[in-house]
Amino acid sequence: MKIYPAGHTPSRPGSPDWFTGRVRLDPLFNPEAPDRVQGALVTFDPGARTAWHTHPLGQTLIVTAGLGRCQSDGGPIRTIRPGDVITFAPGERHWHGAAPDRGMSHIVIHEVKDGRSVDWMEPVPDADYGVDPDVESG
Ligand code: MN
Repeated sequence: MKIYPAGHTPSRPGSPDWFTGRVRLDPLFNPEAPDRVQGALVTFDPGARTAWHTHPLGQTLIVTAGLGRCQSDGGPIRTIRPGDVITFAPGERHWHGAAPDRGMSHIVIHEVKDGRSVDWMEPVPDADYGVDPDVESG
């Protein structure tokens, strides 16, 4: 057994290459071989979100505070709230972040494959992010 005390790893800012707006990353646990599971707390300011991306082995989000949004490529923007659990399949293109006027925190859990847990793509433009959530298109 290991107990990692709260705050054992320093907070760091999300890179502007991969996030729009202000985002804070608080690592929670990292895998030691043969374990592959990694977890972190991610906190988004209002309007902040990830770029489009995929995870080689998928990802689970657990919303812990605030109000957020997420979208899988080709689907509508969805609202996510504390207690919601969201899973993305391996290779599923998506983004996640805060609501425009409220911050959001979630815990992310995913597996590391060949040293990588995410493949980053282009930012989510304001015009796409700002679409009303939960409206089915078409
Ligand atoms: Mn993700």
